[in-house]
Amino acid sequence: MRILVTGGAGFIGSHLTDRLMEEGNEVICLDNFYTGRKQNLYKWLNHPSFEIIRHDITEPIRLEVDQIYHLACPASPVHYQYNPIKTVKTNVMGTMNMLGLAKRVQARFLLASTSEVYGDPEIHPQTEDYRGNVNPIGIRSCYDEGKRVAETLAFDYYRENKVDIRVARIFNTYGPRMLENDGRVVSNFVVQALQGIPLTVYGEGKQTRSFCYVSDLVDGLIKLMNGEYIGPVNLGNPDEYTILELAQAVQNLINPSAEINFQPLPADDPRRRRPDISKAKTLLNWQPTISLPEGLKLTVDDFRERVKVTKS
Ligand code: NAD
Ligand code: UDP
Repeated sequence: MRILVTGGAGFIGSHLTDRLMEEGNEVICLDNFYTGRKQNLYKWLNHPSFEIIRHDITEPIRLEVDQIYHLACPASPVHYQYNPIKTVKTNVMGTMNMLGLAKRVQARFLLASTSEVYGDPEIHPQTEDYRGNVNPIGIRSCYDEGKRVAETLAFDYYRENKVDIRVARIFNTYGPRMLENDGRVVSNFVVQALQGIPLTVYGEGKQTRSFCYVSDLVDGLIKLMNGEYIGPVNLGNPDEYTILELAQAVQNLINPSAEINFQPLPADDPRRRRPDISKAKTLLNWQPTISLPEGLKLTVDDFRERVKVTKS
């Protein structure tokens, strides 16, 4: 199978590429290297079944492929808010271009959507039929609303053009290869603890998230792509933690005496988030297998090799 991975040089995209290459597929990665890095794909660069193309998905491209995993889009608030108009373009024009490609070559198309389509959720845990509570004009909207339009586009290409779609709603995912300056909470805390500087907890740290280790998520994406259910389907780990509990878990693992520095809570920061994964369990036979303590340890091992450790 020839498979296109947009955003293939990024965090999830590069782990997905590893798995697809190990399974013997031909893989083409498209990336503009905004938050992705060639190093993430280093081991495949000279492989005859692998190609990487520097390309911005807001421009169309012609390729012949059987499947498209559409992941290109910055995922960290720091990076998607840096140029919010570009984030909207990537989600809307970029997704339209990739759906147009899927339509032309009759490729199966999987959209990496997000739990952010639920906004600051009023129901808990979140099920796929919940329509969300998203602020259309806030600082997170370029991403949240961008992904909501991306889902709309996927379903309209399905209804109007019979494009064979799959839609995954991915919840917070972490693991090796997150950028040191990614800005998301797990990498921030791990880097801070390794560097011996205080952990930045936003607000009182009472808000919750549910953290999925990247290899589990990749399993879910591949099962969704190759199954019959089109989605949307939640992919995430239902174990829910407050941000303060996450900080304590990182302290325990790296430096129990690391200090915590409370900072203002950013606008529209969702108060809680946990996936209901009944659909993924029954329709994809998928559920996460790696607990937060196990996954954090693997993540910290990777960061230790990259971050200059000043105290541990
Ligand atoms: P990431 O920032 O590491 O990867 C995104 C990749 O897309 C990068 O390689 C980046 O260079 C590339 N990219 C961005 N804009 C592009 C453009 N216009 N043209 C071409 N390439 C472009 O993020 P990630 O965590 O790997 O997330 C991958 C996907 O999964 C994203 O679509 C994200 O919205 C979705 N997702 C991630 C999470 C998570 O917790 N990691 C949660 C929900 C959804
Ligand atoms: N957060 C934090 N300290 C940080 C980075 C993030 O307390 O250094 C909080 C953030 O306010 C949010 C949660 O951790 O409540 C998850 O943030 P992240 O950016 O990782 O993901 P998202 O908010 O998109 O789920």
